[in-house]
Amino acid sequence: MPRRKIELLRGTLFVLRRKCGKPTCRCATGEPHETAALAYPAGGRTNTITLTHADLAAVRAALARYEAARVELDGAADAGIAALRQSMAEHRVRARR
Ligand SMILES: [Zn+2]
Repeated sequence: MPRRKIELLRGTLFVLRRKCGKPTCRCATGEPHETAALAYPAGGRTNTITLTHADLAAVRAALARYEAARVELDGAADAGIAALRQSMAEHRVRARR
């Protein structure tokens, strides 16, 4: 399977625990199977991808890049709000004179 470069990911990593249903499997009487999975928002609901063959380090890195970019974008938007408020305040002062 060719590896695709995953630049950004949004969501939360978690461990999925489940029984596969085979009566002879160790999970029937013992520990359930554990698979890493990604829960991500899609169209107002949360979807899940199981990451059986995924490179978890790459997934974590893509999640971290998204988070860093989101923080930066939110910071820029906050600065925009501050500038807009400043502009409104200055306009009010000028109009009063
Ligand atoms: Zn099983």
